Formats: sequence, structure tokens, C-alpha cells
Amino acid sequence: MEKPILYIVIPCYNEQEVLPITAPMFLNKLKQLMSDGLISGDSRVMFVNDGSTDGTWDIISKLAAEDEHFIGISQSRNRGHQNALLAGLMEAKDRCDISISIDCDGQDDIDAMDKMIAEYLGGCEVVYGVRSSRETDSFFKRTTAQGFYKLLSAMGAEVVYNHADYRLVSSRVLRELASFKEVNLFLRGMVPLVGFKSTCVEYARCERLAGKSKYPLSKMLSLAADGITSLSVKPLRLITGFGVFVALLSFIGVIWAIISALCGDTVAGWASTTCIVCFVGGVQLICLGIIGEYIGKIYLETKGRPRYIISERTYDK
Ligand code: UDP
Ligand code: MG
Repeated sequence: MEKPILYIVIPCYNEQEVLPITAPMFLNKLKQLMSDGLISGDSRVMFVNDGSTDGTWDIISKLAAEDEHFIGISQSRNRGHQNALLAGLMEAKDRCDISISIDCDGQDDIDAMDKMIAEYLGGCEVVYGVRSSRETDSFFKRTTAQGFYKLLSAMGAEVVYNHADYRLVSSRVLRELASFKEVNLFLRGMVPLVGFKSTCVEYARCERLAGKSKYPLSKMLSLAADGITSLSVKPLRLITGFGVFVALLSFIGVIWAIISALCGDTVAGWASTTCIVCFVGGVQLICLGIIGEYIGKIYLETKGRPRYIISERTYDK
């Protein structure tokens, strides 16, 4: 069997502090995998610049000029991690046999790649990197991130627990993934939908080597909302269920009101009435908001805008 061509796809957004540290680490890993005879010499480290406003693209261009194993593409503007990753994967799909996506901040253990490739050679088309420990994350990051996975699965979105976007995907799966045309991207939920034989590889999550996290709580919440609404309609069903529950409750309330009126012991119930009106009003607004979220998604999907626009490459296409 010919050795597979590996593309390591790395989205980068304003990462000028960390890139000079991690880029040589990725290259060393690639060279080690080559000398171990696991991958072909045509393998590459591919950076995807996600419209950075700092010197990230200059660093990538320089790296590409220095070593042919580094290549880079640039998005025309910042579109977010998921879109940048998809741009890289779609660019890689016809050039490689396997892709491994990883963040550029050194948080994910690159030595897990050996195990991933071993699993691929053993017949798996998708290998999910799963975090075995989160000791180095702050308490806040750890609890919010774990809440994120719990919420997703409670809402019916099928995701691999504690798996972010560090994974090996074969070009065969990438070609199938290309036919998932949705604009609302949640790759870690879409890859399981493609199917094929898959497995997990555990690794320890480390601290960011330099620079700051580009995923504040607000972005994480919007990723969670995207994940849920792009994979599941369960929230809509929950609303219906809740509506039925409230209707039943109010029906019982009406019967109780009639009986107590007949018995003649009615009291001035201003407070209780106001509370109920406010509560039901609030619930209705939340429900409208959830429905609005889906309608917004439909709106964006019907426009069918491109999911990424590549403006520059360090190589000729
Ligand atoms: N990233 C990106 N576009 C964005 C935000 C982040 O390409 O708009 C990249 C970033 O450069 C990094 C990866 O996505 O390689 C993960 O981001 P980060 O490490 O900040 O997230 P965290 O690990 O804190 O969840
Ligand atoms: Mg990170």
C-alpha cells in the first residue's frame, strides 16, 4: 500500500504570538511521521488564516517560503473557526488521503497523531481526539465546556463527548462532507452524520502556549446555539410539550376557580394573577425567541451564501 498523504489543517486567527512556537512543533511532527514511514513525503502542514488583523499571514507566508512542507491559505475576512476549518478541509480534500484538524495554540497534544494514524491504517475513516483531562483549564472554562456537551446531548444533538475539532478525517469522508451544503456549520456534529467506521483516541489537554483564547463565553454560547439548532429540532418539541403542560395546568386552575367561586370564598387575587401573567408572558417570549432562532437559520440557509472565500494561497492552485 502506498503511504497516505497527510494534511494537518490549522485555523489561525490573530495568532502571531503562538505561531512561531507551534509551527516548528507541527513540522517536526510531520517529519517524524515521515521518517517513521507512516505518511508520504508529500504531506503538508496547512495554515488557514481566518482574516487575522495582526501579523499572522506574514508569518505563514514566511514559513511557506522557508519550508515546502508549510503551505497556507487565507480567508478574505474573519468568518469564524468553523468556516476557516471547512475552508482548509475542502482545500485539502483532493490533495490528501487523510486530514488532521487541530488548533494552532498547542493545547491539543500533537503526539496523539501517531495513534490517530495507526487507527486510520487499521481501517478507521474518522478518528476523534477526545480530551482525557481538563486539569489545566480554568474551573470556569471546564464547567462551561462540560455544560456545553451535556446541553447539546440533552437537546438531541449527537456529539462525541469532550471532542472538539482535533480529529483525523479521511479524504473519502471529506468528499462526502462536501455534499452537506448547510451554511450553519457545526463540524463536530456533522462528521458523525457522515458515518463510516470511526473511533476515539484520548489525549491530555494542555494550556495555551501563548496568546489569548479567541473563544470567550459569548462565542461559546453562540456555538452551542448553532450546534443545537443545526442538528436538532428538539427545542421546538420541548416548547410544544411545555405549552401542553401550561394549558393543562391552567385548565385545572379554571376548574378550581369555578369551584371556589361557587363556594363563595373568593379572595382579591391581584398578586397571584399578575405573577401568572408575567410568567406566561416571559415563557412566550422565550418560545418565540427559540422559534425565531430557527427561522433565522432558515433565512440564512435559503440565501445559500458561500461558506468561505479564499483570497490568497502560498502556492498555485
Ligand atoms: N480561530 C479562528 N477564527 C476565529 C476564532 C478562533 O480560526 O474567529 C482559531 C484559533 O486561531 C485557534 C482555534 O480557532 O487555532 C481555537 O481557538 P482558541 O484556542 O482561541 O479557542 P479555545 O481553545 O480557547 O476554546
Ligand atoms: Mg485553544
